[in-house]
Amino acid sequence: MSEYKAPLRDMQFVLKELAGLDNIAKLPGCEEVTAELVDQILEESAKFASGVLSPLNKPADEEGSKWENGEVRTPKGFKEAYKQFVAGGWNALQAPAEYGGQGLPKTVSTPVIEMWKSANLSFSLCPMLTAGAVEALLLRGSEQIKDRYVRKMVDGTWTGTMNLTEPQAGSDLALVKTRAVREGDHYRIYGQKIFITYGEHDLAENIVHMVLARTPDAPEGVRGISLFVVPKFLVGRDGSRGARNDVKCASIEHKLGIHASPTAVMIYGEKEGALGQLVGEENRGLEYMFIMMNAARFAVGMEGLALAERAYQQALGYAKERIQSRDLAGGGKPVPIIRHPDVRRMLMSMKAQTEAMRALAYVVAAAMDEAHHYPDKEGRARNQAFVDLMIPIVKGWSTETGIDVASTGIQVHGGMGFIEETGAAQYLRDARITSIYEGTTGIQANDLVGRKIAREGGATAKEVTNAMRAVEAQLGSAAGEDMAEIRAAFSAAITAAEECVSWIVVTYGNDIKAVHAGAVPFLKLMGIVCGGWQMARAALVAQRRLSEGKGDKSFYEAKIKTARFYADHLLTQAPALRNAIVRGAAGVMALAEEQF
Ligand SMILES: Cc1cc2nc3c(=O)[nH]c(=O)nc-3n(C[C@H](O)[C@H](O)[C@H](O)COP(=O)(O)OP(=O)(O)OC[C@H]3O[C@@H](n4cnc5c(N)ncnc54)[C@H](O)[C@@H]3O)c2cc1C
Repeated sequence: MSEYKAPLRDMQFVLKELAGLDNIAKLPGCEEVTAELVDQILEESAKFASGVLSPLNKPADEEGSKWENGEVRTPKGFKEAYKQFVAGGWNALQAPAEYGGQGLPKTVSTPVIEMWKSANLSFSLCPMLTAGAVEALLLRGSEQIKDRYVRKMVDGTWTGTMNLTEPQAGSDLALVKTRAVREGDHYRIYGQKIFITYGEHDLAENIVHMVLARTPDAPEGVRGISLFVVPKFLVGRDGSRGARNDVKCASIEHKLGIHASPTAVMIYGEKEGALGQLVGEENRGLEYMFIMMNAARFAVGMEGLALAERAYQQALGYAKERIQSRDLAGGGKPVPIIRHPDVRRMLMSMKAQTEAMRALAYVVAAAMDEAHHYPDKEGRARNQAFVDLMIPIVKGWSTETGIDVASTGIQVHGGMGFIEETGAAQYLRDARITSIYEGTTGIQANDLVGRKIAREGGATAKEVTNAMRAVEAQLGSAAGEDMAEIRAAFSAAITAAEECVSWIVVTYGNDIKAVHAGAVPFLKLMGIVCGGWQMARAALVAQRRLSEGKGDKSFYEAKIKTARFYADHLLTQAPALRNAIVRGAAGVMALAEEQF
């Protein structure tokens, strides 16, 4: 198994040349972000990821987290790594300075988080959940709640969780049954939650659960759900840790992947009721969750990218070492398998898709910062609309692609990929959950076609395809065969996306099922085209830098060739997907249920 090495060169290229780090540094509130500071943060984070987190990835997968009598023991080395993680200030990266955080823009925290997820996905989930809980508390918690909880969660003394899912309420949270009964200034919570990531563990002194529940007189459905903060140990007004609350971990799941991350069944109120406090107002819990959803879905999208990178590194290392079969061009001795065209094809597809996912994710991260900090309201709204459209794409496309890339990584290894020893199999097992939690791909696709496209008549999607057409025009005036071929494939792919957007807008009102039948293929098409958009921009920058004679020649040449590969092999899939989307519904819906 190879140890993770952060792809700093590509990260810096994407940050500076595609995501516009310079522009982010000019935004009000982001002035402290200098290129030197960012380089320093990335280098330190890379050291932590490869030196501390990566070596634990495989042994922790083999050992797994263990449950005994309501307690969970994380694998050997996790406690020490967590101590180092918080001592290094990594837990405080994104939180605001007034709560002890570093308040770094999303554009900077995104590559850092990619590194942790590549190095050790199971470990990374704990701080990710804590950051989500902190965001919820900052967003809607009262001053008193914020004072009690946020600082200790930011400095890592306590961790956070998200408790949404119940046995009968997964994608459909309208079915949540957990009860919350008011008692003075607090509530007593009763119910069962399942699949709660880091619901119980031994890394921190307390666990702060964010719990969705219903009050007795709440309306049915999504409008009757409230959000509560329920700690494992009660917390005094001064923030001190008190008695054990009536919440316990009944068991943890045995899973396909992320073995080191405990996935807990949580029981609230088995005795006198778990004490919790309301966050915000009653019956608005799901609305608050939706505000946070962008950040959480984006973070899971990053997991697809992160595991694709890790799987690529592993496969590349193996392909250079494994000797098998002679070179097609002749020669007597067997050669490293990287010399065989089909192995190169697999490696190129892994590399090209990983770079495309990274480019799109960082560009969206920059738009998140602009949506937050842009000086005028119009600029903030424009960026927010772009972010809203892109989130289901980053989440759905990157996780599905991450699974494909991890699977290709196994293929590169041949039989050794199927054997656990090499580590290649773990990446596929770990990647498999990413397209399920935080909303399945089907749910992301429904969001994309319904809330993000049909509801606004495709307005933002059209702005995005117009921006793509501008890049296409630049490719048209760039010299060379590579640019011409990229332009041709990109042009046809944009047309496919435009036609699908128009079809969705027209069809949604009169045949909603037809649109939803093609929703996941459409999400895939949009991912491929948006990834191609960023790869085309990357190729243009690389060509410019080469003509200026500046920088790393080999990197820029490789970037152009990788963009060309992406155009030939990925962008060309878009027109076929278009046909499946606009014509495919008949086949999807044809059989009666008993004919299956
Ligand atoms: C390892 C792990 C960790 C998790 N961590 C957490 C956590 O920390 N906190 C938490 O609250 N939850 C967590 N979850 C729960 C996770 O978010 C849910 O599993 C997920 O939302 C899907 O719900 P479900 O499993 O009930 O599947 P279902 O909702 O039953 O879905 C089954 C299938 O039906 C499809 N489907 C359902 N509704 C629709 C629809 N309207 N349109 C089209 N297709 C549809 C889905 O796409 C899927 O293919 C975790 C789950 C796992 C496995």
